Amino acid sequence: MSSTKDETKLTPMMQRYQEVKAETPGTILLFRMGDFYELFHEDAQIAAKVLGLTLTSRDKGSANPVPMAGFPYHALEGYLRKLISSGHKAAICEQVEDPKTAKGMVRREVTRIVTPGTLTDEALLDPRRSNFLAAVCPFKDRVGIAWLELSTGKFQCVDVEQKDDAGALGSRLAFLDELARIEPAECLVPDHIKTHPVFTALMELDGPILTERPAWSFAAQHCKEILLGHFGTKTLEGFDLSDEDTCGITAAGALLEYVQETQKTSLGHIVRLEPYRQGTNLLIDETTRRSLELTRTQREGQRDGSLVSVLDETCTPMGARLLMDWLSNPLTDRLAIERRLDAVEELVRDSRLCRELRELLGEAYDLQRLSARVATLRASPRDLSSLAKTLALLPRLKAKLAGRTSDLLKMLDARLELCAEVRAEIESTLVDEPPLSATEGGIVRVGRHAGLDELRDLAQGGKKWIAEYQAKQIERTGISSMKVGFNKVFGYYLEVTAVHMHKVPTDYIRKQTLKNLERFITPELKEYEERVLRAEGQSQALEQELFQDLRNKVGSACPQLQQTAEVLAVLDVLASLATLAGRQGYCRPVIVDEPCLEIREGRHPVLDRLKPAGEFVPNDAVLGISLDGSDKPAPIMALITGPNMAGKSTYIRQAALLTILAQMGSFLPAGSARIGVADRIFARVGASDELGKGQSTFMVEMTETARILNTATNRSLVILDEIGRGTSTYDGISLAWAITEYLHDHVGCRTLFATHYHELTELPQTMPRVCNWNVAVHEENGDVVFLHKIVPGAADRSYGIHVARLAGVPREVLTRANVILSTLETDHHDEVGKMKIPARKRQNSRQLSLFVEPEHPLLDELRDMKLDELTPLAALQALHKLQGKLK
Ligand code: ADP
Ligand code: MG
Repeated sequence: MSSTKDETKLTPMMQRYQEVKAETPGTILLFRMGDFYELFHEDAQIAAKVLGLTLTSRDKGSANPVPMAGFPYHALEGYLRKLISSGHKAAICEQVEDPKTAKGMVRREVTRIVTPGTLTDEALLDPRRSNFLAAVCPFKDRVGIAWLELSTGKFQCVDVEQKDDAGALGSRLAFLDELARIEPAECLVPDHIKTHPVFTALMELDGPILTERPAWSFAAQHCKEILLGHFGTKTLEGFDLSDEDTCGITAAGALLEYVQETQKTSLGHIVRLEPYRQGTNLLIDETTRRSLELTRTQREGQRDGSLVSVLDETCTPMGARLLMDWLSNPLTDRLAIERRLDAVEELVRDSRLCRELRELLGEAYDLQRLSARVATLRASPRDLSSLAKTLALLPRLKAKLAGRTSDLLKMLDARLELCAEVRAEIESTLVDEPPLSATEGGIVRVGRHAGLDELRDLAQGGKKWIAEYQAKQIERTGISSMKVGFNKVFGYYLEVTAVHMHKVPTDYIRKQTLKNLERFITPELKEYEERVLRAEGQSQALEQELFQDLRNKVGSACPQLQQTAEVLAVLDVLASLATLAGRQGYCRPVIVDEPCLEIREGRHPVLDRLKPAGEFVPNDAVLGISLDGSDKPAPIMALITGPNMAGKSTYIRQAALLTILAQMGSFLPAGSARIGVADRIFARVGASDELGKGQSTFMVEMTETARILNTATNRSLVILDEIGRGTSTYDGISLAWAITEYLHDHVGCRTLFATHYHELTELPQTMPRVCNWNVAVHEENGDVVFLHKIVPGAADRSYGIHVARLAGVPREVLTRANVILSTLETDHHDEVGKMKIPARKRQNSRQLSLFVEPEHPLLDELRDMKLDELTPLAALQALHKLQGKLK
């Protein structure tokens, strides 16, 4: 830091600044001075850039002027949001003494440090998304991960094994899948692992801000003590944590310590640390999550267009967050899934009950975050009032839950705590519409506290006297426009305009002269002012005290409040799923343990909603079920062929999405469905098709494919989309062939493989459990109509060039493309293949997909490419490159 060289010259204020600055490394220090937060030195320079503040300087004349910037205290929220969202951390240093009563310089302390992962302020959080802080602790062959939602108190940890065997190419980074599921805003890492592969992997992850912590804060024993100290227990066994979870526990302790350091407040809402057991959830790795667009779209990273966006009918933020959680963590226990489905079904059948529940829930506030703010002593009077209003809904909600038949609804009824005492306490203490701030009075109801009422009467009486005094003075002086005013500097005063100045009596004491008026005081006025201010000051202090008492009382009920909040969240999610199912005509899936899949008239949940009603073509998907009743093993792998744009990718994703929906406990957009519980889902998109990653290379594709081959089991569901495309045609075909063979012979998992390599349609001849499906198209007068209907058998020709025509690619390009295609089909010298494939079979394996709007700017580029002058192979490559740009 560029501090002044000669420390002795610092003013006491700047000296304090330097001390505080030294205590809060790595943060932007917001230093409270009167009505402003000031920033100095580099912080000021950063703030000038990030916050658009004007950069000035302190000690301008001196040899070392200090750069400085600031903003008024009431603008804190907005500036904090900007700082945090641009990846900074902010330390807030407040005046912790009343300047009026302080002797000497006002004492200043850091009251909290705001970081992306430790937000609790309503204004800085997205109500519908959880905001997690995570900590990662690698040790030997394991990685511990802990994560906390500070704004609700949800705290979990897991120990992930890091296989490091050379064969399992992709499995080194298994912990990244966990982080992808959690999506933390900030992630703590020990600072000594900079060379550790875990650290390098984290650095590549786009998303969380990485915060380095000293190595000692990740020491196992130290961390355990932090946890025991916080929970006030002797062991962690009560939380179902054992030695197996050591790394996870260490990460949790390091995390909690960081939260204690930054929050500097009670954390009474963090009441347990839950172990996350990987086996009880459907494993969805990071790549799969991304490519299936569960919670955000791949290209823009937005919620709109993702699965959750069409799924979410919740009416509370608690429900919205839980829905996201259910979607990110589908279950694998058939009975647990059925419990959810039973409850959804009950609500689908009783649509009136469902509607009434939702009406009540719609009035609820975010009880989870409210009670967390109470526990961290950050709740405002208005927060408590919202909390009580939410509690007031509970008796009616509980009445509706009485006498339900499904286990889950019964359980919710049993767990719903009315918290009547808390509610009564708040209602009898607070006024109906309390203010946001706890310091300015007007919080406590009249009749609640005799002493307070007395003080208020005093203040009121004084004010009344002052009003009467004004009338008397007007009468006395004949200055009808005279009025009593008040400001913080002079207190109460009498204001007289210039024209009447000659009428002012001599006993008035002049205090201030403004342009057209003068302000006076009188001894009498001052005496009453003194009474009013004293009474007001005392009543405000008393109100604050009463408010804090109330907040503490409510805080001690935090566990019950959290339990009730959880009930509301679950109820909201169930009602949301039921509403969607009822409105969109979803069916209840039959859940079985056998690895099969039978979807009849299935629809893609997102596309079905985005397309005009009735335009989406439903399709069947049947795997692992013998169709003709014979002993012939039922196919479990399907190769889907068909022209570009036919609907292959949509179809195979649909199968994965419906499986996920079923395992989270949702009804499905299908006529009927029988879903064998999957343990893992893998979705892979061939390199040239995968657009999100930017640096998608063939190597990435192969690493990820290796991971499937190494970790899929016969209970997994694998979706492969154009795998093998990232290399030359022959290499690609060979790899796709080998992968299919391996999955068929060694894994035996349900697999849907969309491919444009027609050569692969030969596979069923040698592999009994593979079948061919294709997407039907209708050809008329050389034009193609996509029917989007999946039918048995292999596609028999390529339609790539027709697609280009439909899309409005200029005629000369099409002609040229046809020439290239026929050249390639007979030319043997263009590529070196590893596998001998007869020329006959290579026909139709080339496709061009140039699907653009007629006015697309890339069309000009296409014309400029002068395809005529290129060799066939170069022309094809150029077109493929263009194709890449198009997407
Ligand atoms: P492919 O992978 O075969 O090239 P896609 O799955 O990407 O094709 O689908 C191309 C487009 O066709 C999609 O964007 C979608 O709009 C439309 N489509 C796909 N499947 C269907 C369907 N079943 N019903 C209606 N439209 C569909
Ligand atoms: Mg596709």
